[in-house]
Amino acid sequence: MSEYRIQGATGEWEVVIGLEVHAQVTSNAKLFSGAATAFGAEPNTQVSLVDAAMPGMLPVPNMECIRQAVRTGMAINAQINKWSRFDRKNYFYADLPQGYQISQLYHPIVGEGSIEIQLDDKNPESLKTIGIERIHVEQDAGKLMHDQHPTMSYVDLNRSGVALMEIVSRPDMRSPAEAGAYLSKLRTILRYVGSCDGNMDQGSMRADVNVSVRRVSDKPGGEPFGTRTETKNVNSVRFVMAVVEQEARRQVAVIEDGGTVVQETRLYDPERNETRSMRSKEDAHDYRYFPDPDLLPLELDDAFLEECRASLPELPDAKRHRYETALGLSAYNAGVLTADVETARWFEALLAETAAKAKKPEAEVAKQAANWLISELFGALNKLGKGLDNSPVTPAAGAELLALVTDGTISGSIAKQVLEKMLESGDGAAAIVEREGLKQTSDTGAIEAAIDGILAANADKVEQYKAGKEALFGFFVGQTMKAMQGKANPGVVNELLKKKLA
Ligand code: ADP
Ligand code: MG
Repeated sequence: MSEYRIQGATGEWEVVIGLEVHAQVTSNAKLFSGAATAFGAEPNTQVSLVDAAMPGMLPVPNMECIRQAVRTGMAINAQINKWSRFDRKNYFYADLPQGYQISQLYHPIVGEGSIEIQLDDKNPESLKTIGIERIHVEQDAGKLMHDQHPTMSYVDLNRSGVALMEIVSRPDMRSPAEAGAYLSKLRTILRYVGSCDGNMDQGSMRADVNVSVRRVSDKPGGEPFGTRTETKNVNSVRFVMAVVEQEARRQVAVIEDGGTVVQETRLYDPERNETRSMRSKEDAHDYRYFPDPDLLPLELDDAFLEECRASLPELPDAKRHRYETALGLSAYNAGVLTADVETARWFEALLAETAAKAKKPEAEVAKQAANWLISELFGALNKLGKGLDNSPVTPAAGAELLALVTDGTISGSIAKQVLEKMLESGDGAAAIVEREGLKQTSDTGAIEAAIDGILAANADKVEQYKAGKEALFGFFVGQTMKAMQGKANPGVVNELLKKKLA
């Protein structure tokens, strides 16, 4: 695999990246209160007295949020800490009525784990393991609204107290592509597990991007890491990649100009595609962390952990492997179908229906179903600006169409037309074929007549074919199918053509 390098004026540079991802935990209630968490509610309608930090209110851990964090940890093969504790991170901000955030610094709930990324489906060499240092749970803050009044800012506390998982990677990534692949894979896993909806445009997942650069060297392990900057709250995979690229180039220029990189917090401006300094970086001791006296340590028993483990679905890597080995799909197709949990679900429903209709094991119809979904349905939906989530064609309807191809009622090319009509009308495949008279014909008389016409009109090509240019066979098949408006049974066409050309 070619390595990512930045060519500076004085030599080549390597970029080192670590991501801290904040993922909003999927839960109906907040981390320490019963208030609701629905996105897009009217400001300050989902705020309990705990979230507003009224005196005397006490936090009570929501075990559903804890469960989701544990399940996420298990999904990245991490160590789960049966004993963990909440700490207060103290700072003042108008969207933080408590004056501190309840977080976990010293004893996080999840310890070391890892995620595998693969930049190139076709190249197993491009597989790379990215270490994860920890996952802890913490409260989100509220939101300031500066656009409601000319001279005042408003605060919306709906988000105050919502549970977040902070997932901290090791500084193991070395290129924008690796950072993007890591974030996508993490999102995929969270969505499979169901612990976060992964909606980056709604802020359910946001990344703090830590970047440093160092000179390329042939020392084992390379030069020591350089000073890093942290670009906060980046909310798309594309932006994360852009931040890495821009920030690495900026740092190289600073160092080559004789300056030093300052450890600081930066912000990304997508419009100008640049990062800007926000504030110098504070250290953990600045926040005066201490154990939250309102909360007991969190102790998890084996029964709870077992329940968490038993509730995990088949995860993306395992599913992908199974699609390749047990179903015989190509690495590419298996990758596409497992990249999103909804796609995998749709495919598995299609596969089950297709196998049932064909009365065959799933492995025997998997390729057909996968190819149709990826090459036909995705393209057709794309044209309509739709996705599988709002597809007018259901898995059962797709299976009905595939069955008509399998039993020879229609040809593959007619199936494309039928699919378009299914998407337009919402009608079933069999009904459309019947109504439009699209049934494939095995009527040898009609097919023979068509073939005779084609061969007569292309006497020169017939001669070339007989002289050994066998590639022309496909041409004759194509012409015959065209003459039959796609409705001839391809098997019969092949057979008759061979006979006539022999
Ligand atoms: P903090 O909690 O102060 O942000 P951490 O040591 O926990 O600091 O690191 C935060 C993130 O920064 C982690 O994702 C880590 O991988 C990454 N990181 C640490 N050192 C570097 C470095 N030199 N270059 C790039 N990323 C780094
Ligand atoms: Mg940090």
